[in-house]
Amino acid sequence: MSPDLPRAEVVVDLAAVRHNVALLASRAAASGAATMAVVKADGYGHGAVPVARAALESGATWLGACSLGEALALREAGLTAPILSWLDLPDVDFAPGIAADVDLAASSPAELARIAEAAARTGKRARVHLKIDTGLSRNGCPLADWPALVEQAVDPRIEVVAIWSHLACADEPGHPSIDQQAERFDAAYRIALEAGLNPARHIANSAATLNRPDLHFDLVRPGIAIYGLNPNPEPEDLRPVMTFRSSVVLTKRIKAGESVSYGHTWTAARDTTLALVPAGYADGVPRTLSGRMDVWLHGKRRPVAGRVCMDQFVVDCGDDEPEPGAEVILFGNGDRGEPTAREWADKIGTIDYEIVTGMYRPRIRRRYV
Ligand code: PLP
Repeated sequence: MSPDLPRAEVVVDLAAVRHNVALLASRAAASGAATMAVVKADGYGHGAVPVARAALESGATWLGACSLGEALALREAGLTAPILSWLDLPDVDFAPGIAADVDLAASSPAELARIAEAAARTGKRARVHLKIDTGLSRNGCPLADWPALVEQAVDPRIEVVAIWSHLACADEPGHPSIDQQAERFDAAYRIALEAGLNPARHIANSAATLNRPDLHFDLVRPGIAIYGLNPNPEPEDLRPVMTFRSSVVLTKRIKAGESVSYGHTWTAARDTTLALVPAGYADGVPRTLSGRMDVWLHGKRRPVAGRVCMDQFVVDCGDDEPEPGAEVILFGNGDRGEPTAREWADKIGTIDYEIVTGMYRPRIRRRYV
């Protein structure tokens, strides 16, 4: 047995993934759209392959990846569903992706030319989704250059599967940019039709999958909602998938007036029991949560005493005496009253996306239930 057992683990609830995907896919299906499960960044920190399998079992028929490397890893795991890869480096060779039936995104004439060249070498047509920048101003082709890109795509080496775009403010219902992006998307579609193409269309992320059925088109691309985190202000029946847990390694009593952890920023107001938890900022517990976070321990929320360290932090347990090995939940789905990833995000001024994607760490074991 390894002497170094996991200090902390991320528990991934695949039944929750199935529930969330079924909900998203049924919303999409109501508008006649298919569902692409976005599993980039190792499934938002949950594990791309197990999440992809669960998603494909529960209504998704496509997978979305950031890079060709991510897409090919899904193929190597035996996943045969259509996969779109959308952000590759300028020197990537697209040929292995074309050979493995990975759909490729093209945002510029140079990128499309490299895809066509790779298709010629592979001896196979490349399946391409042309990306129009409708206002996010990230990747995607500006509308002014779009007619030329569309013309260039009329090429025997290229099969234009879809045109697509990405929304900037879909999680702020009513934001004027949403309709403006939709209008530009429609203009881009008309230009593609005039060029003789007949592409599918996709633009909806999780937020728009849930709140803008008129933007579902042929395919929706939810990511965060698959993981049970709701990007929208209105409640949705989504189940958070990730629980971050560890356990007590040691307890000790200290007297009132004694101080705890680096910098002695916390001093016991009364005699109390401290429980040591072997997870720190090297394991994804933000140091900025020092003195501002609770954990769930022995059926209660308990405050963290003093600073979070690299490998450990200390919990103030009062007169409770948790035994070594007692479970400590850092965040979960909130059902028991434990903190959630959203609570962490709100406290440190970020979004829950960053909390969960940050949980892919070598010292953290992932366990699927
Ligand atoms: N589509 C693209 C191109 C993305 O980059 C992302 C994620 O950032 C998604 C879809 C999924 O977005 P969300 O996680 O907000 O549903």
